[in-house]
Amino acid sequence: MYYPQPISKLIDSFTKLPGIGPKTASRLAFYVLNMKEDDVLEFARALVSAKRELTHCSVCGNITDTDPCRICQDTSRDSSVICVVQDPKDVIAMEKMKEFRGKYHVLHGAISPMDGIGPEDINVPSLLNRLKDEEVKEIILATNPNIEGEATAMYISRLVKPSGIRITRIAHGLPVGGDLEYADEVTLSKALEGRREL
Ligand SMILES: [Zn+2]
Repeated sequence: MYYPQPISKLIDSFTKLPGIGPKTASRLAFYVLNMKEDDVLEFARALVSAKRELTHCSVCGNITDTDPCRICQDTSRDSSVICVVQDPKDVIAMEKMKEFRGKYHVLHGAISPMDGIGPEDINVPSLLNRLKDEEVKEIILATNPNIEGEATAMYISRLVKPSGIRITRIAHGLPVGGDLEYADEVTLSKALEGRREL
């Protein structure tokens, strides 16, 4: 189908987003054309500033606009407990629950030999450095309840165990194969409460 070049470029850009096929991309592109110019500018600026102004926290790896992030800086939080998650979105899910008052460590992925992702490809080395520098008493492994998440939890558990730090894994009230970020607050809260020793 023929589109003027600015539209086909816009359609191409939408196609790069997850879950957006060519049909939806074209619908969104034409929707944008009908938006008010101010709204389009605001949208464009929000995209650029989200990308430019956010960085990864040098302590926990979470996305942040300050370094260290607000959670790492918060002295009212219990720094003796670190909850290890795969994705920044998991931190948001945990925070929504409002029960966890410790700190986080964001791995940005999980070990997946099938996809060629090893321990050195995710944010594990910085976790081990934190254990040397900080007074950590417990590590809660809150990786996703699927093969990659389990493999990652087992790997970290084996690495950390010799240090004598308590290692727990969140309970499987979570749907198997599901992502932490999609768990509702009650399920997540029960999973945290029912965590078991590894
Ligand atoms: Zn942080």
